[in-house]
Amino acid sequence: MIYETLSSAETFEIGKKLGGQSKKGQVFCLIGDLGVGKTTFTQGFAKGLEIDEHISSPTYTIVNEYDEGRIPFYHFDVYRISHIEEMDEIGYEEYFFGNGVSLVEWANLVEEIIPEDAIWIYIEKDLEKGLDYRKVTVNNLVL
Ligand code: ADP
Ligand code: MG
Repeated sequence: MIYETLSSAETFEIGKKLGGQSKKGQVFCLIGDLGVGKTTFTQGFAKGLEIDEHISSPTYTIVNEYDEGRIPFYHFDVYRISHIEEMDEIGYEEYFFGNGVSLVEWANLVEEIIPEDAIWIYIEKDLEKGLDYRKVTVNNLVL
């Protein structure tokens, strides 16, 4: 599934749609360069889960947990991780295989621990199509 967006609001809406359809036990993996829109997508995703709290990247804590929505939401950002053991230390399996939905920004950096059935989402720029253009590719999910 490929989406093309021309604004952060549109990327937010795609996230919201996917968040609205997400189910407990699912792991969503986001890949894309710094500033491409992963957190913007995630903010929409949280909205789709009926979470009203502001979502910002958990850069120093690895994971933030939100329990006020339709199902628990576990937002990971593993950009600053230096050893995969850090994921063991925070008990990632309790999240991935728990009662909520997980979303991992920079999941490619911890690919070895990502479940087989995870949904991978790639966000890319194409400067020839303008500064605000993004291509959002969603794998392993039929909408
Ligand atoms: P990341 O989490 O990937 O580092 P952010 O979501 O924090 O990225 O930042 C994305 C930036 O790009 C924001 O400043 C946002 O306003 C801007 N932007 C411009 N166009 C888009 C678009 N089509 N989709 C998402 N973000 C966009
Ligand atoms: Mg981010």
